Amino acid sequence: MDLSPTPLENRLIEIIAQNGALRLDHFMDLALFDPQDGYYTTHMPIGAPYAEGGDFITAPEVSQIFGELIGAWCLDLWQKNGRDEPVQLIELGPGRGTLSADLWRVIDHHHFSDHMQLHCVETSPRLRAIQAEKVPHAQWHDHIGAVPATAPCIIIANEFFDALPTRQFRRTADGWSERYVSCEKNTLVFVDCPFDGPSRSVEKGAQEQDVDMMAELRRLEDQFALGQCVELSPAARLYSDHIAARLRQTGGALLAIDYGYGKAADRDNSAAQAGGEDLSLPFSGDSLQAMFRHQFVSPLSHIGAADLTTHVNFDALAQSLKHGQITPLPLLTQGTFLNALGIHARTQKLAASHPDHAATLFSGTQRLTAADEMGQLFKVLCAISSDFPVPLPFSEK
Ligand code: SAH
Repeated sequence: MDLSPTPLENRLIEIIAQNGALRLDHFMDLALFDPQDGYYTTHMPIGAPYAEGGDFITAPEVSQIFGELIGAWCLDLWQKNGRDEPVQLIELGPGRGTLSADLWRVIDHHHFSDHMQLHCVETSPRLRAIQAEKVPHAQWHDHIGAVPATAPCIIIANEFFDALPTRQFRRTADGWSERYVSCEKNTLVFVDCPFDGPSRSVEKGAQEQDVDMMAELRRLEDQFALGQCVELSPAARLYSDHIAARLRQTGGALLAIDYGYGKAADRDNSAAQAGGEDLSLPFSGDSLQAMFRHQFVSPLSHIGAADLTTHVNFDALAQSLKHGQITPLPLLTQGTFLNALGIHARTQKLAASHPDHAATLFSGTQRLTAADEMGQLFKVLCAISSDFPVPLPFSEK
């Protein structure tokens, strides 16, 4: 594996030498979205190894059944809502457009496409072009706030929140410390600096953000042992505020699927399992990971060439939606969600009509639902506006 510094790494070393260490979320933001050398600007993230040049594979790419079941879920929810007005289906970060295409096929098949509009929220021009080949009738936007609020909506986000930059705070004997990326002998290194309240930064919104972080850390304090870290994403917080505002305005639901954890207790198991940590030891809480051609690499290597993510803190996401007067329903695992939507019956049916693909269909379903594959690590959060019905298979308690 080539370990020579990438152009972005060299630039970051210069930036740090001039301005000091970079806060972890600022580092992630540059590594992923730098307009010149960022990972999403320069690479094709999703796809099978080598054949398609991707670095990771997502549920819709594993099996068409994933998107089809979500299409049927949207239709069911729409009918349950009992309204005759149009609905907007908004996908956040549609990647290669596979989920949108699969769900739209179901909607079309049931002759509902006249009642629905598809909106894709995507920042990468390169991915937009690929999506346009799959769902040419969709409309594209840079941000959820730019989707015209003309109808109730169902917002779908698969592996979207894990890409949003995160801050990391560690509990120490002297309070909380925060993780930064610095440079020693021309090499990037992590450093931890004390975090004791609002920064003196003059950057717009920086102090308010730190006050929010401090309040959240106080709420969480007794869930974390000394040495463990909490990951809080201001970008996810901001995004969920926009989602909540939109859902309040027109009514609707959010379906967010991602690897991640709810409360601290389930985090320790699921995040450690994904990171290959020894489950008998307490999990450090650090879920930052870098993927390069389907292999884990150091988050401080291959900068701009590897995908950088953290596990989604669904507890924090649910809290911020609640703060925006949107009701988060209890978190389900992906396995429970897909099993309840009838993934096994659908697989049998499709395999019977396409015997040549039967083995791939069955192994895809196994990968999506098995507890030791994606079934347990991936979670599904559904949140609804006050006037919306509770979608299957969620419950209010
Ligand atoms: N949902 C897809 C792709 C997941 S990868 C799938 O399941 O296969 C993350 C996607 O989010 C990519 O399409 C990426 O370009 C997009 N993305 C990341 N940050 C974004 C942002 N702030 N706004 C809009 N899209 C974003």
